[in-house]
Amino acid sequence: FSHFIAQCLIKDFETRPSVTHLLEHPFIKQAHGKEMALGQQLSTLICEQQDLGCKLKTNMARSRRSNSSHRHERINTRKTLIIETSPDDDLVNLEFLDEETIIKHLSKRYDELQIYTYVGDILIALNPFQTLSIYSPQFSKLYHGVKRADNPPHIFATADAAYQGMVTFCKDQCIIISGESGAGKTESAHLIVQHLTFLGKANNRTLREKILQVNPLVEAFGNACTAINDNSSRFGKYLEMKFTPTGAVMGAKISEYLLEKSRVIKQATGEKNFHIFYYIYAGLYHQEKLKKYRLPDKKPPRYIENQHGKVMQDIVSSKLYKEQFDAIQDCFRIIGFTDEVNSVYRILCAILNTGNIEFTAITSQHQTDKSEVPNVEALENAAALLCIGPEELTEALTSHCVVTRGETIIRTNTVDKATDVRDAMSKALYGRLFSWIVNRINALLQPDMNICGMNVGILDIFGFENFKKNSFEQLCINIANEQIQFYFNQHIFALEQMEYQSEGVDASLVEYEDNRPILDMFLQKPMGLLSLLDEESRFPQATDQTLVDKFEDNLRYKYFWRPKRFELCFGIQHYAGKVLYNVNGFLEKNRDTLPADIVVVLRTSENKLLQQLFSSPLTKTGRCQRLVIKVLIIPVTFFAPPPSPCFVSSLRWQYSLMDLLSKMVVGQPHFVRCIKPNDDRQALRFFKERVMVQLRYTGILETVNIRRQGYSHRILFEEFVNRYYYLAFRAHQMPDSSKENAVAILERAKLENWVLGKTKVFLKYYHVEQLNLLLRELI
Ligand code: ADP
Ligand code: MG
Repeated sequence: FSHFIAQCLIKDFETRPSVTHLLEHPFIKQAHGKEMALGQQLSTLICEQQDLGCKLKTNMARSRRSNSSHRHERINTRKTLIIETSPDDDLVNLEFLDEETIIKHLSKRYDELQIYTYVGDILIALNPFQTLSIYSPQFSKLYHGVKRADNPPHIFATADAAYQGMVTFCKDQCIIISGESGAGKTESAHLIVQHLTFLGKANNRTLREKILQVNPLVEAFGNACTAINDNSSRFGKYLEMKFTPTGAVMGAKISEYLLEKSRVIKQATGEKNFHIFYYIYAGLYHQEKLKKYRLPDKKPPRYIENQHGKVMQDIVSSKLYKEQFDAIQDCFRIIGFTDEVNSVYRILCAILNTGNIEFTAITSQHQTDKSEVPNVEALENAAALLCIGPEELTEALTSHCVVTRGETIIRTNTVDKATDVRDAMSKALYGRLFSWIVNRINALLQPDMNICGMNVGILDIFGFENFKKNSFEQLCINIANEQIQFYFNQHIFALEQMEYQSEGVDASLVEYEDNRPILDMFLQKPMGLLSLLDEESRFPQATDQTLVDKFEDNLRYKYFWRPKRFELCFGIQHYAGKVLYNVNGFLEKNRDTLPADIVVVLRTSENKLLQQLFSSPLTKTGRCQRLVIKVLIIPVTFFAPPPSPCFVSSLRWQYSLMDLLSKMVVGQPHFVRCIKPNDDRQALRFFKERVMVQLRYTGILETVNIRRQGYSHRILFEEFVNRYYYLAFRAHQMPDSSKENAVAILERAKLENWVLGKTKVFLKYYHVEQLNLLLRELI
């Protein structure tokens, strides 16, 4: 029997050198049923049968040799690149460690199209701004289950480390991708999903295809062309890929964070609305369906018209938009959407028509604050697409109900007020439609609930933003980035150093820029910036001027300043640099209220999807519940329950971030730091100053230091012995989880430079890699 198993293993090793696949072998599954127990028995069998063990190792080596032949594959880019490892792959190996050397080194690598570099277990990714041929299936094979140092740094290696960590230790993992806008986060996230779907080969091909369609679909609705990036993500995304205990992909789930809804109604100069509007317009135009969807074919809808009026021509003549529309239709179909898609298009076209509704003032002797709609066509189109009555819609836009002393009074809306109501309706429709699409995708990709699986989560959230004019959206985005940086600091520096001290391990401490005081300034209650903003938003008489005065009177921090007393702006010294915010519209954006009259009208719709969108407040489940977090380092204010009612948007913003952080802190993190080498989006241009700034604020230099000196893995003796005892003991021996046995394993594995604490083994990042490899070779 053992001989037979070993033969199966040898055969499989030649084609698929992975523990996961061996454990999935039908014979093995049938013979034992319980995979984990089987893994242990197999390793014992192989240990005991030395000759078979040797054969296995020879096969592993052969398989690695055949992989390494890929390393000499030449890549057809502007410069010829030979895929070879080098000692400079990891900045930790550099002899001199100063900013100048690091920059010189990254620049040289970038010239050679080596865009990836390690800092210990962290990956630096420089945006190549050109298509590289290093992401083919051959490369996926190359980076499958091998030691990291065997290949040059690569985003696939990070995905592989997360995957192997998940299957080997049955622990959830999360990959945190950070960087400025346009630095390459979203591309990196795509590549990780691509590699993970390759690694988690599901028997179910359709599922793999579905998962690969998720990003393009969600991005069509959530991304837009900005001044910095033609495909900028205007929402934060946390994608969890779900795997079976043996590592086969079984589903996926997306969580979206704060879509920049204001883009629907207005875009800054040179920027555009969400991609989907252009795709749908071009697609419907070419299918001659503009009439069916009641879209104007002469003048572009206002929401997608730019200042020069050129957009109309661009939209309809753009081959790309038309192709993207076809691609989006395919995405909907492959993921499993049914004729609901028709309702999605109707709502999108209704939004475009809503944007075209105009208002003029009616002035009579008695009334000056009344408005009416001069262009009824747009209004009738919107109402028809939303399946509501045009009169009811007109009424909801041009008047509102007020209840005073038990009496309901109808008040008319001024032109400005009616315009605000119209835009609020468009934003609400789009925001809820986006959430609905995400929820629907989750339902269609939901894994079998009976299998208790594991996750790899991938966080791709908007990067730090600093434009000429920064508004409420930039403030929210930058606060999110402060939180991500805080999490990074906690994980890389603070937790590490606290543990050295509590375990009595002597390690020199590295100084780093702690951004907690800035976070406290934003999040503290009741006097933090967000609390002050919420408080002011509750006063009907408050203005943006009173808001900024309130900030100035209450925020006594060196990170806050006000350039001129009567100007509507304030500055913040963020961890990533100084940003000047314009307060214009802050209160309105923070209130983000949708008049009840509009909700009432939309609920009367005969369109099922629309009824669904407005039937409940569509909050995310669990967002307003107390979150149970084991890591107490995160300030408690992050996790306090929200006061009720939680209707103001900055509060929602905070709590959705908490939801995100709570997901991240439970998994083993992997960090990818994306860097933008130039602002012109040009290939092979490396501006030292630009890179230097990014390295500085992301704390890369300190990270190199701590990764060199520090012990990034700290494992309890018990856990360590349980994980690795095969390396020094036989399976049936069941050794005690003692310090002595941990030492025996470390010595047997011939590791050097490890340290023992009171309760834990302290290991460098490469030790864990060596141990895991030994373990894999043994099994
Ligand atoms: P971010 O999400 O950080 O704002 P993106 O991931 O959208 O940035 O990247 C911006 C642009 O940079 C992409 O549209 C693409 O043109 C280019 N880019 C980024 N990463 C890569 C890569 N690995 N290979 C080729 N081009 C890339
Ligand atoms: Mg992005």
